[in-house]
Amino acid sequence: MTTSPLRLRLDAAALASNWRTLDAMSGSAACGAAVKANGYGLGAVDVATRLARAGCRDFFVATWAEAAELAPLGLSVSVLHGIRAEDMPLALSGIARPVLNSPAQIERWRAAGGGVCDVMIDTGMNRLGLSVDQALSGVLTGLEIDVLMSHLACADVDVAMNGAQLAAFAELRGRSSARRMSLANSAGIGLGPDYAFDLTRPGLALYGGVPRAEMATIQQVVTPEAQIVQRRCVPAGASIGYNATFTAAHDAEIAIINIGYADGYFRGFSGIGCGRWGDVALPVVGRVSMDLVAIVVDRAPGLGEGDWVALDYALPAAAAASGMSQYELLVGLGRRFDPHWTA
Ligand SMILES: *Cc1c(COP(=O)(O)O)cnc(C)c1O
Repeated sequence: MTTSPLRLRLDAAALASNWRTLDAMSGSAACGAAVKANGYGLGAVDVATRLARAGCRDFFVATWAEAAELAPLGLSVSVLHGIRAEDMPLALSGIARPVLNSPAQIERWRAAGGGVCDVMIDTGMNRLGLSVDQALSGVLTGLEIDVLMSHLACADVDVAMNGAQLAAFAELRGRSSARRMSLANSAGIGLGPDYAFDLTRPGLALYGGVPRAEMATIQQVVTPEAQIVQRRCVPAGASIGYNATFTAAHDAEIAIINIGYADGYFRGFSGIGCGRWGDVALPVVGRVSMDLVAIVVDRAPGLGEGDWVALDYALPAAAAASGMSQYELLVGLGRRFDPHWTA
């Protein structure tokens, strides 16, 4: 089997630890996991398997294709985008519950004789879900609802909208047949126990994202690593890469590594990102190309072609440096990496 010149170092212990941290912060509520978008780029099956082992029981994906990928694991999965007509065969096969978002989806589920479902309530984000008034109008009567959920728009900051969404959602307590209520994503867990209800649904923080200061103990899970394709000396006065944005002030030892913006190592890291060889920092110079990046290896005389270099990818710092969100840095990781899980 050919191996890739890129690998994702994935820390299974950090993933499990992050889930336990969020579970503890969720108080008496259960802590689920959003594993949509291929487990935020880390591999949905790998992530869900490890989280289930840690004790996680409720998983959330966006589409039925994502649910089908997880089906062999036999987990409890909810499909956030609900049901289109073309989803019905898979939805009725019982591999996951739909999260019904609109009166039309509810009607479709009822007409098909669907069983247990979840329902999304819109409490102000104006994205998906029934309004609170709609939910109280009788449209849910007779549905077998496991989770009644809503989603916070601004949980990463302290604004009045959080409290308003909480109050709107709390109005539904005891007024539907739902077995459980769920409001908080990762950041929402940091807003405190009032937001936890019966079940929380973190994604980002499981994978090392830190949306709020309360989550400072969240650990980094993902580190991209790339192999050196070529090492060269760039003489003083010569430039490197597209548009010659970097000119060497003195003779410089440069390594060209096998990663680029096609792998999610975005152009925002140009001249800003940093490679790492043990403790030695290897600054990125010049513009990030589609498949290649140049780093300064003056301080690493032993590094040569074929050697592996890690890239600084602690999400809060990497997001601040690159101008991308922590979410984009995760889900942007391309398909050319070989996953390397370490226990
Ligand atoms: C993606 C998503 C989550 C997880 O959000 P994070 O901010 O990644 O923790 C939770 N609930 C819903 C409805 C989502 O779409």
